[in-house]
Amino acid sequence: MPETIDEQITIEKTKDPKEIPADDDLDFGRLFSDHMFMMEYESGKGWHDPQIIPYQPLEIDPGSSFCHYCQVTFEGMKAYRNEDDEIMLFRPDKNAERLNNSNRRMCMPELDPEFFIKAVKTLVDVDSDWVPSSEGTSLYIRPFIVATEKYLGLKSSDSYKFLIIASPVGSYYPEGLKPTEIKVETEYVRSVKGGTGAAKTGGNYGRSLLAQNQAAEEGFDGVLWLDGRERKYVEEVGAMNVFFRIDDTIVTPSLEGTILPGITRDSVIKILEDRGEEVEERKLEIEELAQAYRNGYLQEAFGTGTAAVIAPIGRIQWEDLNMEINDREVGPLTSEIYDILTGIQRGRIKDKYDWTDKVK
Ligand SMILES: *Cc1c(COP(=O)(O)O)cnc(C)c1O
Repeated sequence: MPETIDEQITIEKTKDPKEIPADDDLDFGRLFSDHMFMMEYESGKGWHDPQIIPYQPLEIDPGSSFCHYCQVTFEGMKAYRNEDDEIMLFRPDKNAERLNNSNRRMCMPELDPEFFIKAVKTLVDVDSDWVPSSEGTSLYIRPFIVATEKYLGLKSSDSYKFLIIASPVGSYYPEGLKPTEIKVETEYVRSVKGGTGAAKTGGNYGRSLLAQNQAAEEGFDGVLWLDGRERKYVEEVGAMNVFFRIDDTIVTPSLEGTILPGITRDSVIKILEDRGEEVEERKLEIEELAQAYRNGYLQEAFGTGTAAVIAPIGRIQWEDLNMEINDREVGPLTSEIYDILTGIQRGRIKDKYDWTDKVK
């Protein structure tokens, strides 16, 4: 169990605030808000000195272990304004829990989950002017931990930094939900059983770039990953979880250690089950998907993740087989789930699950 942190977060405000762009001028993850959160860890001393300071470069010793061995973990979450102009987070307790799961896998110190949420809320509150308000926009929050011990021997670091930075992001779909075109990746793999696929840790993402780049060169928006051992089972789409509607049943790959347990994935399953849909979390062979397509039973496909919420899939290319789904239009269930989830987030639909969490 992580130790409780009861230190006060000190706040040093910037003397040089940046200009905040208009909502329709935002893209993703290039511009950061005025402040950042930072806290240190040393073995024997634990987490200490939590502070909010002006956004600034870090001083990095080139011998720091994270530069070499990728002992890093991160999270991705959003703050957004609801229709009453309150700033909300979506299931931040789940991000805290997942960060600790990633930390355990990477031999990194866990964080008091309540303190994690407090740190996120304090930063968002200090930078509340940076939370945009138009439909689909948000302040994307990136908490992360890096190993800082200056030592080239391969071992878990004795010191770490926990940081939180925030970036205002524009709507993912300024012109409405748009289906993507995906290639089934049959050469490279994202993760293997016993590996780190279920942890949000840097190495998983660096290693996925070659496949993504090749798919982009071939004109695709991304890749559908298969399992690392047999290249037989569907796992994820890019850095999103994936759902299919096959003959009126919703199928999503089960979490067996190779797939990142998405919070959006979990929320979508709960919403679908509440609507009385049949949801199966199980192994899904790519061949089964192809069979369903050939027989006319593959009705819809979509990815889920914090950034896009729901990403409809209009076409999947598997070797020579070109699967066009729902005439490359957004499927009815896909668009309904998108409306329900964003409706709960924006406060248009009653949050009976208690998922939204007010910053102040
Ligand atoms: C973060 C992530 C997801 C989505 O998780 P959410 O909690 O829904 O944002 C899915 N797959 C991978 C590989 C991820 O890194």
